[in-house]
Amino acid sequence: MVGSENREALKKVLKSKVNRQLLYYLDLCARCSICKDACHQYNVTKDVLYLPAYRAELIRRIYKKYYSPIGRIFPKFYEGKDIDDEKLLDELYTTAYACTGCRRCMYFCPFSIDTTWILGVAKEILNAAGRGCSILEELANASIEKGKSIDLYKDIMIDVLKDTEKEIQEKTGDKNASLPIDKEGADILYVALAGIHTIMPAAIIFHEAKKNWTLSLFEAANYGYFLGDSNKARQIAARIVNEAKALKVKEVIITECGHAYRVMNFLYEAWAKEKLPFKVTGIIEAISNYVDNGDIKLNKGSFKEPITYHDPCQVGRNAGFFDEPRKIMNIVAADFREMTPRREKNWCCGGGGGLVANPDFEDFRLKTGKLKIDQIKETGAHSIVSPCENCRLQLDNLNQKYDLELEIKSLMDFVVDAMPLPGNL
Ligand code: SF4
Ligand code: SF4
Repeated sequence: MVGSENREALKKVLKSKVNRQLLYYLDLCARCSICKDACHQYNVTKDVLYLPAYRAELIRRIYKKYYSPIGRIFPKFYEGKDIDDEKLLDELYTTAYACTGCRRCMYFCPFSIDTTWILGVAKEILNAAGRGCSILEELANASIEKGKSIDLYKDIMIDVLKDTEKEIQEKTGDKNASLPIDKEGADILYVALAGIHTIMPAAIIFHEAKKNWTLSLFEAANYGYFLGDSNKARQIAARIVNEAKALKVKEVIITECGHAYRVMNFLYEAWAKEKLPFKVTGIIEAISNYVDNGDIKLNKGSFKEPITYHDPCQVGRNAGFFDEPRKIMNIVAADFREMTPRREKNWCCGGGGGLVANPDFEDFRLKTGKLKIDQIKETGAHSIVSPCENCRLQLDNLNQKYDLELEIKSLMDFVVDAMPLPGNL
């Protein structure tokens, strides 16, 4: 037990999370177990701990103990559990931080119960109990600290990117092509991830599309979101929001990072209680628009080998971008092979929700990526496009572990390789 003082503090956290949405989810579950076949983790492990309805049941037990009249008097009879019960907290940790947030269970649930959302409540309780994921917390804290001392990083970043600018000039054949940073009055603020691989292809696409853009000083990744600490997640996202406001941009474009797009487009305004003064766009949507408007040209059928596409859960099922990437795949690929199932029903790669950054779950995520491996093998393709860094890291790990001999591409790289550029000749 963690002590009565802590118990009161945890009860306060629970109280702050009890709202109509939580009550709706806890009341409505019909124990039909449809969600058990929907979850890749339960499907592979057959462990009840990973059954979506059971994950929610852990929160329901705490709720019963403090909010149900019978549960308060007869907690044991009514399966009510103390909020600081060690065994319960252990189970909550495993089940909440294992969840990739893919929401496949929600898609199949007849009542659309959002298990990921319920596990968000579990993570807030775990964090308040000092039982949150320590690695994710360290990463989140480091991001917040970077926001406080960005001037220290700015010069280093500008220096490092000089070589990248030269590569962009060679690729585009334009010696004036630039990689603008901190440019006030730009129309677009592009938020990349750590590493040139998410900067260079976007810079080429913006250059060719003749966009007035600038690169963000911050990475899109939001470890506060994975940690399940909405306060830290808001602070991390606020660094980008403040940068966008200072530069007076009209649009913030988030790179191929599903959860970062989700945070900025769907969650930030509610957390910060403010309306963003700019549009938020995912890079996939932006590229799709540039193709439609004729801003960029692609060589039709230029990718000759069989290739497949993985729908990242945060890009597809949770944000609705199914047609945009397929349009690009169908233009560029001479032999595009779809996986089964796909789109809304696609299997999660197994690496989302911060799992690729969490060593506690390394073996687990490689094991539970099995359904994705089977899907890829069935296509017969040895190349795959997926517009999410998390998914690509997981696919790369699966590739090595299971000898798939896969070539894994970002959608941006796939697009740049298909552009009629001097550097591609
Ligand atoms: S969101 Fe995905 S990983 Fe989490 S419980 Fe549902 S199906 Fe399983
Ligand atoms: S599918 Fe929905 S209603 Fe059925 S057990 Fe799962 S969460 Fe409950």
